[in-house]
Amino acid sequence: MRPEIIYIEKEIAGLPYTQAVLQKFSGAHVEIIEDIRALIRQNKKTTFSKQNQPLVLAKQRGRFLEKCPGTKEHICCNYYTLNIAVGCPYDCTYCFLQSYSNNPYYTIYVNLDEMLAEIRGQVRGKIRLGTGEFTDSLALETYTQFVYTYSPQICALSPDITLELKTKSNWTLSGAEASGLAQFRKQLVFAWSVNPQNLIDSDERGATPLRERIRAARTAAECGYCVALHFDPIIYSADWAEQYQTVLDLIRQNIPPEKIAWLSLGTLRFTPTLKPIIEQKFPASTIVYGELFPGRDKKMRYPEPLRVKIYQHMLRQIAAISPCLPVYLCMESPEVWKKVYNQLPAQVENLNELF
Ligand code: SF4
Repeated sequence: MRPEIIYIEKEIAGLPYTQAVLQKFSGAHVEIIEDIRALIRQNKKTTFSKQNQPLVLAKQRGRFLEKCPGTKEHICCNYYTLNIAVGCPYDCTYCFLQSYSNNPYYTIYVNLDEMLAEIRGQVRGKIRLGTGEFTDSLALETYTQFVYTYSPQICALSPDITLELKTKSNWTLSGAEASGLAQFRKQLVFAWSVNPQNLIDSDERGATPLRERIRAARTAAECGYCVALHFDPIIYSADWAEQYQTVLDLIRQNIPPEKIAWLSLGTLRFTPTLKPIIEQKFPASTIVYGELFPGRDKKMRYPEPLRVKIYQHMLRQIAAISPCLPVYLCMESPEVWKKVYNQLPAQVENLNELF
């Protein structure tokens, strides 16, 4: 990502973190603005190319920490999102941000000392946090250095915090720099979203190849960190089982099971408003044309029997890697949970802690 212009809100322009991020984008034209909201109002219908999408360094005026909204009448995994940025350099066909956000700018919130204060005030007991809800947690890590600066400070707030950084990038932990994080090894989880390479080619434009993601995950594991792997969204095709087996085989060959903190499974789902956007923006993508029906949350999903079949198969194949790996379903109904596990998540061994 090479933004030609970087807007900086006046109020946060002098923060050391703003200046540190800015230094990494040398060559871009910098413009000081009063308030990002005025910029969004003027340009909310503009579509910028991902490669030179303008960047905004802004103040988070809302809450940094939010309970993951989950989805109506589906089971949520008790996750908290940490909203440190909005936008992504990748261009996945199924990305919900396309219909969710009216902000065309890649926005990084830099008042992160306020984020620390907010977390400090809210943590009561064990909590899982993740920054990957409205952005890819590590895609711009080279510029933001969040892992080495703010993640240790977050973990230091309480040993009850687990911080998950989820990505489709090939960002790789560097052995030397990672030593500064070593005391938080038990609290930091580096996570990769995975899909078969043919789907990455067709539906995850700009994101890194599967092998590079797995290699990066392997490095994190070799540095002593736990990693998570998210099969989400699983996209059905005639040969889906063989395609996903190639991913599972790569995981088995590269990542020791004891270094896997958890895996998640979630089949494709999207709001009806996203469908015309996908059709128009990605005419070659076929993901919206399968048999998909609205669920109780109105999102389009594969029929329940097909979802159950996919989850049961994936669970069997994951158990063949190691029988004790915690695997949860993302945004699924209680009925599907019961059909797949014969019980609800809080009763499933290995998952009761997470849920
Ligand atoms: S990586 Fe995530 S945030 Fe980025 S485009 Fe893909 S789905 Fe959206």
